Amino acid sequence: ETNVYDVVVIGAGGAGFSAAITASDAGAKVVLLEKMPNVGGNSLVSGAEMAAAGNWVQKKLGIEGDSVELHYQDTMKGGDMKGDPAVVRTMVENALPAAEWCRDVIGVEFQEDNLFFFGGHSKKRSLIPKGATGLDFITKFSATAEKRGIPIITNMKAEELVRDASGRVTGVKATMDGKSYTFSARKGVVIATGGFAANVAMRTEANPFYGDGFKTTNMPGAMGEGITMAKNIGAQVVNMGLIQTYPMCDPNSGAIELIDDARFEGAILVNQEGKRFVEELQRRDVMSKAILEQTGKYCYAIFNGEIEKRSHAITHHQDEVEVFTKTGILHKADTIEGIADFFKIPVDNLKATIARVNEFARTGKDLDFNYRSRFVDLSTGPYWIYRGVPSVHHTMGGLKINPKAEVLDANDKPIPGLWAAGEVTGCTHGTNRLGSNAYTDIIVFGRIAGAEAAK
Ligand code: ADP
Repeated sequence: ETNVYDVVVIGAGGAGFSAAITASDAGAKVVLLEKMPNVGGNSLVSGAEMAAAGNWVQKKLGIEGDSVELHYQDTMKGGDMKGDPAVVRTMVENALPAAEWCRDVIGVEFQEDNLFFFGGHSKKRSLIPKGATGLDFITKFSATAEKRGIPIITNMKAEELVRDASGRVTGVKATMDGKSYTFSARKGVVIATGGFAANVAMRTEANPFYGDGFKTTNMPGAMGEGITMAKNIGAQVVNMGLIQTYPMCDPNSGAIELIDDARFEGAILVNQEGKRFVEELQRRDVMSKAILEQTGKYCYAIFNGEIEKRSHAITHHQDEVEVFTKTGILHKADTIEGIADFFKIPVDNLKATIARVNEFARTGKDLDFNYRSRFVDLSTGPYWIYRGVPSVHHTMGGLKINPKAEVLDANDKPIPGLWAAGEVTGCTHGTNRLGSNAYTDIIVFGRIAGAEAAK
């Protein structure tokens, strides 16, 4: 069975939707293939914050001094200068137009009076969608694609790229329920299949440290098939060993703890001994490494009512709070004794730690770990405490692309007819992706890939 389109997009996450809609708006006949029963991928379960320097919320909040250049420096530095300079430059320059496109064309509702301050960013620059998850993005993306008449075929798994005699990519072989289908692409194929965090074998091969000792925050679809498909026709793969863990995840499921939002508004981290051991706004890799060095390879985050008022960590994530309370990894108490007793943390240690943090909150200077923001005074309850562990979150490596999202071969030459965007690519984040740079990356390069493939 053959279906003929101009552009075939593989993977219905944020990158794939951006590519499909952009290609369609450029006049191309587009199809979007998704192997899972539902669209959204990891883009759906993400917090979906989006970093964009100079954005409209910054203006409203009076945050000054941010620039594309600063975002560039932060991204490069955060990835130990291992990101591809031209690709990173393209991402930061197109970040704000991409966010405006999401707002104005897709209809994503961003919070108008609130931004996120993620580790490694030197300014508060990350836009937050309504609900602080990817749901608003994916709902609006789906509605927009439907309005454009773009077929989204779920349960359709891309297996192989098809090429003509000249080597140009001309289509995709896929399967549904064991039956084979071929989707021909007159103009091009966009790979937007996400990363490989859910593929333990691929992780182990790329970097044995991140093998079966870790759970993952990812959806089960993140198996790296786009990387394998492209590699099989000569695509260059880079940075595969660079794997990021998210520091605070559910020890039972591996999922990101959404209540960890509290950490960005002042929650402190302590170990089983009740002592701080790392700066709470450090990079994800540094924090994860520090947590793995503590007793039991886990830690606790602690916050109070004042921090809840600022972060809405509890009120925004009631479902999670219910589960965590039942599984015993979250506890609320009026006193420090109450939270210490619950997890058998030495109460004197914890009291001393909190007294010291209160002192730092007063002086504005953390003499122990140089906290980059200002601590909140923790003298008054109620208190919440939750346990967390690092879990595999993002695979920085993948297909090598250029700023036009063309997939490159071993000689850095574009493979005709093939584009890629999103986590499947390996050039943006270097050794360590900064929080909220993923959404920026997937949407910026999804749009570029869609526009280029439709030409
Ligand atoms: P990104 O953030 O880069 O957009 P996501 O994880 O959000 O990545 O989305 C990738 C999507 O691609 C997921 O929905 C995933 O199920 C889908 N996908 C992965 N492999 C395939 C495949 N072989 N065929 C079709 N869809 C795929």
